[in-house]
Amino acid sequence: MATDGSDPIPPHNTFDTILVLDFGSQYSHLITRRLRELNVYSEMLPCTQKLSELSWIPKGVILSGGPYSVYWDEAPHVDPAVYDLNVPILGICYGLQEIAWQFGKNVLAGEKREFGHAYLTVERHGDGDAGGHVDTLFKGLEDDMEVWMSHGDKLSHLPDDFITIATTSNAPFAGMAHKSKPLYGIQFHPEVTHTPKGKFLLKNFAVDICKARTDWTMGKFVDQEIARIRALVGGKGQVIGAVSGGVDSTVAAKLMQEAIGERFHAVLVDNGVLRLNEAKQVKETLTAGLGINLTVVDASERFLGRLKGVMDDPEKKRKIIGNTFIEVFQETAKKIAEEAHGSDKAGEIEWLLQGTLYPDVIESISFKGPSATIKTHHNVGGLLEGMHLKLIEPLRELFKDEVRELGTNLGIPEDLVWRHPFPGPGIAIRILGEVTAEQVRIAREADYIFIEEIKAAGLYRNISQAFAALLPVKAVGVMGDKRVHDQVIALRAVETSDFMTADWYPFDGAFLKKVSRRIVNEVNGVCRVVYDITSKPPGTIEME
Ligand code: GLN
Repeated sequence: MATDGSDPIPPHNTFDTILVLDFGSQYSHLITRRLRELNVYSEMLPCTQKLSELSWIPKGVILSGGPYSVYWDEAPHVDPAVYDLNVPILGICYGLQEIAWQFGKNVLAGEKREFGHAYLTVERHGDGDAGGHVDTLFKGLEDDMEVWMSHGDKLSHLPDDFITIATTSNAPFAGMAHKSKPLYGIQFHPEVTHTPKGKFLLKNFAVDICKARTDWTMGKFVDQEIARIRALVGGKGQVIGAVSGGVDSTVAAKLMQEAIGERFHAVLVDNGVLRLNEAKQVKETLTAGLGINLTVVDASERFLGRLKGVMDDPEKKRKIIGNTFIEVFQETAKKIAEEAHGSDKAGEIEWLLQGTLYPDVIESISFKGPSATIKTHHNVGGLLEGMHLKLIEPLRELFKDEVRELGTNLGIPEDLVWRHPFPGPGIAIRILGEVTAEQVRIAREADYIFIEEIKAAGLYRNISQAFAALLPVKAVGVMGDKRVHDQVIALRAVETSDFMTADWYPFDGAFLKKVSRRIVNEVNGVCRVVYDITSKPPGTIEME
């Protein structure tokens, strides 16, 4: 959680941990996710990790897939010390080939690439000369299973002392196991949903073979995390952090409040482009509801003043809002620091809270190729000039769904836990064209109605992100027999599981009719409503 290496109680010290070594497959992080869903803690590290530099011992190791061929000169290889850890190892795809290569130099390019669905036949060996443990990987699974493949290389023959535990028509060594050691390899990907029973296989490996405890739950994480924050910050240390009303910053703030109470200072900067009534609502929820020590700074005028005259340059808007945010946050931080210092709260502000999640960490450590240097995680502590704050990142090990579960666990209202993402530059990038107080009013009111109707129709959780945007054009309309020349609202709603690709949400006509009627009737200055039917790609989720 602390980026300076001073972490007192990292989760891999408390929870049995399966280490995933990443060879650069686009699915590597899914292995970690699936294990966590099974309540087994898992962490991912690049395949180049030197095991002697690891300060902890995993319960088992999984070697991921990867885009290379093990027989290439420049192919990445796992530190051979992995076999001396004396813990079970499972190789997936490239990982299988890596084990085969290290034990027998027996991998070559296949005649046929195999990509997509395949049917696997499990070979069971009973208690025979392999002692029964080789059957454990497929324990409880049917003899024929559907799996998903993505490979071009294949094993020419098994390495010594390995036996076949599964085959497909194209891959005679689709699964292998060492006769006496807990070493396994599979050619298919159990971590993707296209392998319907893949999760059970991972469970067999983690729980039955590695004997990992299944105690990774958010209930247990809360206790350990609070202890960890206290140990890190000490009895006097003070922490400052920005909150936005979104789930990540609220959960992080609540965790800090539980751990150190008033010594955590939350700051909400009202930039004038938050949603309708948002600053007020966040204040209520965080202070009255969650007991967080919060300072709200209304800097709307400063933000709107600087946005004046910026007509159609989205990057410029983002930059102005980003820089002004840092400026306001820094001023506030200094003020809070002065007040805190010398008061009976004692201790200076040394820490900056950041709501970094595990996907950001994975992004910065995942293996990008033999020659790519591993970049360290971006440290914003330095952004606060002259304050020399150390970063504290209590959500650094968590995936988004875990953050939501943690939020529920900490008593954060459901509404907030399931809130759609909202961009830092807020409504400013949903107002195409110049951002003025009047345009903000229109965009806000329309957005409020749209979201209110989505909630009333029970659709909020089915939709990943929805908002109203204000287009920089005027159209003609007739309202009350009078010709009007007013603005156009564009509604956008998308479904997505990862925000990398997205589909527009197929509302029914009656719903859209109702929203359109309400917006035109209730929001002054709007005479038309359109619905954005662009997927991502080619569109983006936001409009600017
Ligand atoms: N590059 C290897 C192959 O083509 C491994 C592929 C993978 O791990 N998905 O067989």
